[in-house]
Amino acid sequence: MDMKKKLFIGGEWVEGSSYKDLLSPYDREVVAQIPSATEEETEQAVVSAFKARKELGKLPAHQRAEILDNVSRLLEERREEAARLISQEAAKPIQTARTEVARSIMTYKFASEEARRIKNEMINMDAAPGGEGRIAYAVREPAGVVAAITPFNFPMNLVAHKLGPAIAAGNPVILKPASQTPLSAYFIAEIFEKAGLPKGALNVITGKGSVVGEKLVTDDRISVITFTGSPEVGIALRNKAGLKKMTLELGSNSAVIIDEGVNVEKIADRLVLGSFAYQGQVCISLQRIFVHESLKQEVIDAMKKRTDRLIFGHPLDEATDISALISEDDCSRVLSWIDEAKDRGAEVVCGGTREGNGVLPTILADVPTDSSVSCEEVFGPVVHINSFSDWDQAIIEVNSSDYGLQAGVFTNDMKKAFQAAEDLEVGGVLINDIPTFRVDHMPYGGVKKSGFGREGIKYAIEEMTELKLVSFKK
Ligand code: NAP
Repeated sequence: MDMKKKLFIGGEWVEGSSYKDLLSPYDREVVAQIPSATEEETEQAVVSAFKARKELGKLPAHQRAEILDNVSRLLEERREEAARLISQEAAKPIQTARTEVARSIMTYKFASEEARRIKNEMINMDAAPGGEGRIAYAVREPAGVVAAITPFNFPMNLVAHKLGPAIAAGNPVILKPASQTPLSAYFIAEIFEKAGLPKGALNVITGKGSVVGEKLVTDDRISVITFTGSPEVGIALRNKAGLKKMTLELGSNSAVIIDEGVNVEKIADRLVLGSFAYQGQVCISLQRIFVHESLKQEVIDAMKKRTDRLIFGHPLDEATDISALISEDDCSRVLSWIDEAKDRGAEVVCGGTREGNGVLPTILADVPTDSSVSCEEVFGPVVHINSFSDWDQAIIEVNSSDYGLQAGVFTNDMKKAFQAAEDLEVGGVLINDIPTFRVDHMPYGGVKKSGFGREGIKYAIEEMTELKLVSFKK
């Protein structure tokens, strides 16, 4: 791999005016040198995307579909290389990184299919008095330049969730990836270039959120902001975005309810996976477990047994289940939140300590629900197990959160399942599953502080297009 990366502007690879070392989160070794774009370099990307919007907007659906299909195929050919990049820059265990690449291939495939399916609609104008004598239809047009700002935790697939629908809908994009995970973004730009995307339709600009992101969110030539990241940044951007269309995919402290009578052995693997996959740095990571009191000890024992087997190590080691957290600040924050819960009477079932630049997978029991590990988003390998005796109370506990992305419910009682589906205040309810489940075509997004707007290619296309009405008077 070329150590010194270049910005991708207007279809050209451009040397940056200043550079920063990218360090591995695992051992702090230098992985690459990354351009830190200035406001002027960001301006060039905006100019190039704005210029490309007419050409891309006129590209027929079958050509947009073909480009996205090419991306999916080229990514498939280079899948191992892609997984290793993710692993290096994000300290994602290689097995998990491979899963992310497989999903990204699928996401571009869905985008290719959806490009051919964008629906226009006939409008029966004569349904209203005075509307007679007209033939009318509404067409979905590309909304304009999309600024995509993405987080570190799924650097390939969350980028795919923005580039896929944007290109499918005919919008040029400026991608600003997280500073810790620029390599996946440059890699996919190379693939788009080979896939036949017109020049300027994708621009990749790395640099500080406060410089690049700030410029993108306030520039009038940008029509859509699609942001995935923390609520703090998302809300700040929202307040500056004016009339731009916006999708905010933000954080959560996802919960699951386990009803009495559930077979714990059958679900324990899923609970551990949901809690600790990629060190808990997943927006729908399982953070709060509310289990019926009759099963509490059984759930603790089953999860502890499986968690004790998880191996901490180098992300590129095939045996590794858990690796470093993304930054030193995150390590100390997570450990301090665990200490806070301990001081307030929580039991540490396992973990709770530091290992290298990470934190060992941690199970806490009986956590006061107003302590940080419960009411804030941990974004680390920490889950807590609390019990309930009354089902309605469990639903109230899940809902008493500032967030609402997804929730899981395990029950054998259909009535309770339907009640939970109706009463849980989240973007997605997963019955008989963990909240950490996602496939890439389903509608996905949150309520409350988890944001608004939906991804899942078809839904993201709706967010990135404008409806135009055309009426013919006879
Ligand atoms: P983050 O710190 O909010 O950063 C996200 C992106 O915003 C990065 O590209 C970042 O750039 C940029 N940014 C930071 N400050 C900015 C500013 N002032 N103006 C414009 N852009 C700015 O989030 P993260 O730590 O990378 O990711 C973790 C968060 O993402 C968690 O809260 C997680 O739940 C959420 N997430 C949500 C979903 C979902 O679908 N709902 C999925 C995944 C992750 P820099 O890296 O350069 O600061």
